[in-house]
Amino acid sequence: MIIGYSLSCWIHPLRDCWCCKGHGVHRPTDDNGKPRRIARPCRWCRQTGKRIRIGRRVWNHFRAKRRAA
Ligand SMILES: [Zn+2]
Repeated sequence: MIIGYSLSCWIHPLRDCWCCKGHGVHRPTDDNGKPRRIARPCRWCRQTGKRIRIGRRVWNHFRAKRRAA
């Protein structure tokens, strides 16, 4: 199970930002569900729309450790 998770993190290190749905900007919707004109940059992904998965960060951590040894 852990191996499967780390494998999927290795294959798909990036995932869409949960906050802006991968757009990089927030588009608030009004009461009718229509997107407003005002869009502000997403601070969670720094406007990239992608976020590195936690498993991938752990993966990078171990790789860096091995390189140092
Ligand atoms: Zn975002």
